[in-house]
This record gives sequence, C-alpha cells and structure tokens, in this order.
Amino acid sequence: MKNLKKLIILTGPSGVGKGTVVKEILGKDKDISLSISATTREPRVGEKEGENYYFLNQEKFKKMIEQNLFLEWAEFAGNYYGTPLSSVKEKINNGLTVLLEIEVEGAKQIKEKFPESLSLFLLPPDKKELERRIRNRGTEKEEAIKKRLFRANYEMSLSNQFDFELINHNVDETAERIIKIIRS
Ligand code: 5GP
Repeated sequence: MKNLKKLIILTGPSGVGKGTVVKEILGKDKDISLSISATTREPRVGEKEGENYYFLNQEKFKKMIEQNLFLEWAEFAGNYYGTPLSSVKEKINNGLTVLLEIEVEGAKQIKEKFPESLSLFLLPPDKKELERRIRNRGTEKEEAIKKRLFRANYEMSLSNQFDFELINHNVDETAERIIKIIRS
C-alpha cells in the first residue's frame, strides 16, 4: 500500500463519541472514507450489515485471522473487531483518505506497522461524562457497560502514545479540528 499518510486512526474509549464525530467528518469532507470493520458482536437495533459493520460469527472471524485478511484486529469487551485489509487497500489506491474508527489495541498495531499513519485519541471532558454517555446511549446491558467502563480507564492511560489528543467537548468543533489536522 502506498501513501500511508492517508491512513487516519481515530481511537479512544467506548462512549467518547467517536462514531458521532466520524459521521460529522464524513459529511464535511468527501475525500475521507470510513473503513467498515468486521465484528462478532450482535448487531444493535438499526445497525445494518456492510454499513455499520460486517457481522461475522467467531468461526468466520477466526478463519479471516488465519488467512491474514485483517490489517489489525483486537478483542474488545468479549467480542472480536477487525479492519478488513482488502477494502482499505482499495480505498487508498483510489486516492481516498481512509479513516479507521477503532479501539486502542488495534490503533497501536496500526501505528507500529505504519508509523507514517496519523493517530488521534479522543478523550471525554471527564470520566463521569463518559459513563453518562455510555448509559444514555442505552445500547448495552449493565454487564457490558461495566466491561466498557473498566476498559476505558486502561485505554485512557495510553492516550499520550498517539499523535494528537483531543477532548470531545462538542461534536462539530471536534470534527472541524480533526479535518484541519488531516489536511495540514
Ligand atoms: P462498538 O461495539 O461500540 O461498536 O465498538 C466497540 C469498540 O471497538 C469501539 O471502541 C470501536 O471503536 C472499536 N472497533 C470498531 N471496529 C474496530 C476494528 O476494526 N478494530 C478494532 N481494533 N477496534 C474496532
């Protein structure tokens, strides 16, 4: 893959608002394309195959790992998540800037493999706010919420390993800041 400056990683804890910020970025800049990940987690209400994720069973996911079909993959809160290699290659070869919205372990893998990629870590205004956002989203059961909050502490302790740390106070403003960083 050439031109890996065009590989952008957006990471940060669950509930920080990565998905909302990504939507805003995609609406503002048509040269940026989101990589659709594969996951073994169950679809949430309203989520669509191939739009939000490729929803796979564990067997299929593990087969893809064995066949080296992921650019990176990680286990998160009891499920597997991974970035399919083929679509990222295709987008980059077509001149698009590819955005990966992924958790921290995957982000670290990409940073190690492709040091020229750009990595951004999104932080919540504070931990209480993070918990409030995860709970208000209403998409997870209590057990899953606890796993995500526990994991969030670990993830936030690694924020300084990435190129930029941004606090997500306001979606529109965060998206604008990220686009500026990508373009500069
Ligand atoms: P969710 O279940 O809330 O959609 O995602 C859980 C976490 O997995 C989020 O932090 C999300 O960014 C991350 N994630 C989504 N896709 C991928 C992927 O392809 N690879 C990795 N490593 N993490 C991902």
